[in-house]
Amino acid sequence: MKQLIYADNAATTKLDDDAFEAMRQYLLDDYGNASQPYSFSRKVKNAIKIARKSIADCINAEPEEIYFTSGGTESDNWAIKGSAFGDVDHKQTITSTIEHHAILHSCQSIERMGYPVTYLRVTHDGEVTSHELERAIGDDTRLVSIMFANNEIGTIQPVHELCTIAHNHGAIFHTDAVQAVGHIPINVKELGIDMLSASAHKFNGPKGSGFLYIRKGIAISPYADGGHQESSLRSGTENVASIVGMAIALKKNCDSLNHNSAQINGVERLLIKELYDSGIAFRRNGGTRILPGMLSLSFEGADGEALLHRLDLQGICISTGAACNSADTRVSHVLEAIGLTNSVAKGTIRISLGKSNTQEQISHIVSALSKALGT
Ligand code: PLP
Repeated sequence: MKQLIYADNAATTKLDDDAFEAMRQYLLDDYGNASQPYSFSRKVKNAIKIARKSIADCINAEPEEIYFTSGGTESDNWAIKGSAFGDVDHKQTITSTIEHHAILHSCQSIERMGYPVTYLRVTHDGEVTSHELERAIGDDTRLVSIMFANNEIGTIQPVHELCTIAHNHGAIFHTDAVQAVGHIPINVKELGIDMLSASAHKFNGPKGSGFLYIRKGIAISPYADGGHQESSLRSGTENVASIVGMAIALKKNCDSLNHNSAQINGVERLLIKELYDSGIAFRRNGGTRILPGMLSLSFEGADGEALLHRLDLQGICISTGAACNSADTRVSHVLEAIGLTNSVAKGTIRISLGKSNTQEQISHIVSALSKALGT
């Protein structure tokens, strides 16, 4: 049987073994409802408390500032809509044209309700510049929401600078950090972030679990009303096993951040070198500040969709644009926003390497690509 080469880590990651073992305990043995007062449930409640503290420590937040959600999509929806719904003045929201659809569609949703939204253009490298934000922001801006790192091209945004501009105008700053958390260092206090979205399955945690960091003092409407869980802001019986698994996966990744990025950058460099060595003509998108292992590669005149399927036949998983877009054959909004022509955008694939990818796998990927491109 062909060996699977998984190079689509921006779509999802493999569940960490220790996270899985810890989850098993809370699924099969300690299955009590955390809200009940008896001792069987106290253990569960305590597990949530420990997980909340561990996650908070990973991004230098306070435990009370971490709110558990069902993942990145929910966290993003909550940040955008929850911030707007309490705003009787209908102040402006600013975001960028290259955000994930969880942000873009939430923004379109509040626009339909009469909340104005401004979409910032990005540079050819996919960067949101301070200049662009300065031009759009005013004293009637309520929220600036700019992603930490892009999920298609990997560009890391100048979050600290953008945050400072938002604060200078009395606005709050949210970042969709789904691709960044657990992969690059994030210190919410140092950067000045007011709200941050994260998703467990992007850092070797379980799918369907995530969190929204909300700095103390930030006013936001509840996401779900009900039984008062998550300080009455996001009610619903806690997904204990996933919360515990998420905390373990995040801590493991954060504890070995330097080691992991050194390993991933090593295989990434090898991939680029082997592409050059095999004479394949390509351009890499995303500029110079890119997430480790994220490669958006354009092969002019090629068909990205066909490349994906040819590599799939060799047991290799990669992506065209973003994974969430795979059913959508239109050119990705991100590739369009960075100014790629239709023919270059259509010949673009995303390879997202993770900590388990090996040098040997890189050689397989490059030779499969070379064959698929007919070079
Ligand atoms: N935001 C970004 C930047 C993403 O890459 C994704 C998923 O690909 C999401 C949000 C949605 O996260 P989830 O899959 O946890 O809903």
